[in-house]
Amino acid sequence: MDKSTTIEDILMSGFKLDNVLTFDDVPKNDQNREGKRNEIQMTYIGELPTVCPNCEQKLYAHTGKEILVTDTTFVGYPTKLRLRFPRKRCKKCGYIYHPKVEAIDENRYMTKRLVAKMANLAIKHSFYDIANEYGVTNNTVKNVFRQFIREKEEELRFQTPAFLGLDEIKIKKLGEITVITDLEHRTLYDMLEGRDQQSLTAYFSKMPNRERVLWVCTDMYRPFEKSIKESFPNARWVIAHYHVVAYANRAMDAIRIAVQAKMTRKERVATKKGLAYTLRTRLRDMTPDDAMKIKGCRESEILKPLATAFDLKEDFFNIWDDNPTSIDNAKQAFADWEKGIPTDDIYNDFRTLAKTVHNFYEQIFNYWICPVAITNGFTECTNRIIRENNIRGRGNSFEILRGRTLFRYSNLERIDKAGMLLGPPIPKKGPVFHYEEVKGIQDSVTEDGEDYDSHQYDPTIGLIPGVNFDPETGEIFDEVILDEWHEDIDNLGTD
Ligand SMILES: [Zn+2]
Repeated sequence: MDKSTTIEDILMSGFKLDNVLTFDDVPKNDQNREGKRNEIQMTYIGELPTVCPNCEQKLYAHTGKEILVTDTTFVGYPTKLRLRFPRKRCKKCGYIYHPKVEAIDENRYMTKRLVAKMANLAIKHSFYDIANEYGVTNNTVKNVFRQFIREKEEELRFQTPAFLGLDEIKIKKLGEITVITDLEHRTLYDMLEGRDQQSLTAYFSKMPNRERVLWVCTDMYRPFEKSIKESFPNARWVIAHYHVVAYANRAMDAIRIAVQAKMTRKERVATKKGLAYTLRTRLRDMTPDDAMKIKGCRESEILKPLATAFDLKEDFFNIWDDNPTSIDNAKQAFADWEKGIPTDDIYNDFRTLAKTVHNFYEQIFNYWICPVAITNGFTECTNRIIRENNIRGRGNSFEILRGRTLFRYSNLERIDKAGMLLGPPIPKKGPVFHYEEVKGIQDSVTEDGEDYDSHQYDPTIGLIPGVNFDPETGEIFDEVILDEWHEDIDNLGTD
């Protein structure tokens, strides 16, 4: 029997092994689906004191005690340790001695290694699966994880970033969440419930070393202005270009919908197929088939505005793409673009976009001055991880979603590598933040922001079939709602 290698050297050698039992029919709260559970019985054999620590009188033998603690799995089944302790009692003061076992979390009736492992697994796996694995209740896992988050919250200190990214993500049932990132090192700094000026200002005012912040990058949301000004004396405000160009896609969509509304049902069905997607595709990414569709629009009396809208969208994107280094050229390109919007009412949405650019002119063109490259790849990747964590823990609180996302090993490791971890060090070995499981389940954030694995959402195109959230609002669709949404789309095509 090589249990001594798995049951932590028979709990640090203070015990002797009595028996290993396997039960086939376990109580309901041992939630293993197979209905099996091990019980490993062991007796304390460590030293016992002979005199009372209070009154130095002789200690007498007292009735022994048994406790049942949950451990990590043994040969694949949930495992409980039945620990038998002798006790001793002082006749004078009533003191009762029973051995303290370092490896046991007595309050939880679990081994400490299980607590640590559970907490680590809970960052990535559902509470239900973990509860099933170890034969405990969902609530036990949740409580362990909540405690873990609070401990990390107390301990971990991150340096305030010089390049602060603020993004908004909408999560079903939790509402709007502000995602705060370190754009320079591409790490998640924090998450915050809400994004109104009051909660932002309250949060920022408590941030340490606020003078370190040099740039704050956001979308076009005016209330940020006051929060940034009041909280960060050295910061400049820049708007990420991907938030701006998203409006060009929306303006183009509005024109497409207006054009299609004027068509007969037959024409609408004919033009609907794939045209919305093609129009949102960048010219450089087009297939010959896409190019033919655009050409078709150009040659059609009815669809011509769509080709014009497509050109306006492309030219707008190109303000950034064609002028990567020169702010003056970019400003000129915008001025030319604005002048080029045809006067017909149908293009009013593009005029509105131009107005928006004027409203945020300084912040938008600060993009050319801000020394850190702002790409949406990192933001989208972070948002994807948040959404996936939310789907995994549906119905859980914001606290748990935040803990799962912020305290991922890969995020902490990245913060550490960037020298932005103020303390304590993250152990490279040891139970916390280090498990073999972690290797297979790490999330990667790529350097160039280009390569996002399971990422099925193209922010400049929008919703792609099979994706379960709305890129415009960030709203997550449950599977059921996704089905309904598909129905809606189908109905649109056949009415
Ligand atoms: Zn005593």
